[in-house]
Amino acid sequence: MKSVSLFSGVRRVLCIGAHCDDIEIGLGGTILEMLRVNPQVEIHWAVFSGNETRHAECRESFNAFVPNAQDHQLVMHSYRDGHFPSRLEAVKESFESLKSIDPDLVFTHTRFDRHQDHRVLSDLAWNTFRAHLIWEYLIPKWDGESIEPNLYVPLSEDQVVRVCEKLQRSYVSQRSKHWFDEETFRSVRRLRGVESNTRYAEAFVIRKMVVGA
Ligand SMILES: [Zn+2]
Repeated sequence: MKSVSLFSGVRRVLCIGAHCDDIEIGLGGTILEMLRVNPQVEIHWAVFSGNETRHAECRESFNAFVPNAQDHQLVMHSYRDGHFPSRLEAVKESFESLKSIDPDLVFTHTRFDRHQDHRVLSDLAWNTFRAHLIWEYLIPKWDGESIEPNLYVPLSEDQVVRVCEKLQRSYVSQRSKHWFDEETFRSVRRLRGVESNTRYAEAFVIRKMVVGA
């Protein structure tokens, strides 16, 4: 399967994550690859939960993944983990402020994700960005999932190593979780590599796309 690079034409990207480390876990390598192909791309990173500690870790991680972070944007909210559906109106209000970014590409959770906070943000992304390209990313979790991705971004060994290192170095509070380790992050990307006929990859679900000349 031949691959096509879409990143060179992208000017502004919005990454949406319910929890502080979601974006990096789901698409950390894609961020690195996008910045490699197109260093001019403007990254907007929006996280919707977390306390002071988690936010500090999130900022450290953002700075690690995005060079010259001051030229990009990190927005962090503090909605209670697991309670997004009961705070829908407030979350939606916060979400509205992202509209003005007018991104070329939006990364959000997939609507088939079993985590309620992830699903809320996925639905809001589709409600809010109706003329935009949206890629839905996947997060490994206890619930498991039976989602078939249909879009892949191949990654180098070096990029996978960097994703694992940056995640573990930044998110000190998460290291005690049994799943938060290099083996998880690497094996998911290896599996996506098998699915896309390469060594490592990150996978997405794309529901619709409008192609111009
Ligand atoms: Zn999450």
